[in-house]
Amino acid sequence: MIYYKTNEEIELMRQSNLLVSKTLAHIAEILKVGKNSKQIDKSAEEFIKDHGGKPGFKGYRGFPATLCMSINDAVVHGIPSDRVFTETDIVSIDCGVVLNGFYGDAAFTFAFKNITPEVRRLLKVTRESLYKGISAAVIGNRVGDISFHIQHYCEKIHGYSIVRELVGHGVGRNLHEDPEVPNFGQRGKGPILKDGLVLAIEPMVNLGVRGVKQLNDGWTILTKDGKPSAHYEHSVAIRKDGPDILSDHSYIDESIKKNDEIVDISINL
Ligand code: MG
Ligand code: MG
Repeated sequence: MIYYKTNEEIELMRQSNLLVSKTLAHIAEILKVGKNSKQIDKSAEEFIKDHGGKPGFKGYRGFPATLCMSINDAVVHGIPSDRVFTETDIVSIDCGVVLNGFYGDAAFTFAFKNITPEVRRLLKVTRESLYKGISAAVIGNRVGDISFHIQHYCEKIHGYSIVRELVGHGVGRNLHEDPEVPNFGQRGKGPILKDGLVLAIEPMVNLGVRGVKQLNDGWTILTKDGKPSAHYEHSVAIRKDGPDILSDHSYIDESIKKNDEIVDISINL
């Protein structure tokens, strides 16, 4: 079942996604070597509640935390822990909130300052691929057009691997709505994109092989070869005048500029 949103609903979803964006920006200010992901998670939960929202992931199918925090070879769905951050870590942070009955959903991979150029390039390309996908999120296209653009950019042009087991999704009153939005696929295939459809577009891109495995915690998805993986996500409304990105990574970029322990992964749009 695909739910198309009204103008009013899309404005409510913009508010939900603004809170997600500001929460991720708050995280970007407090991420430091020597802290652990549980501390960040606790602070994010307080931030969301202080701003009138509810954590969207906590309790979802039993997930135990506010944030998914996936470090280095973890792709997504990492559970915050006592493990302390080091200056060569990357951490993909996925944040969901519920506000006014609607979910916001966005993600960003942060990098501490001593990552290798190779890893920095993975992050930059993954972030760029998100916008390649969004550029195809227009009325009359199909989901496969979004999928194709992401896959082509990451695999054909840059030689990375797209994770197949996890995909983007519709989002609204439910965290996961139809349709699925794979990060791989063929142009002109899949459901048609119509006005009012809101999609969470979220490339998950591996430096090495595309295969993944699940940790025995029942949640964390790891790359099969132990190489790093990156994840960037926006919630995007399909509108008559083009894709309307409801989440806003610019808040995060501003915070990163003020935190000298985190690398600026800027891209030209
Ligand atoms: Mg997400
Ligand atoms: Mg999502």
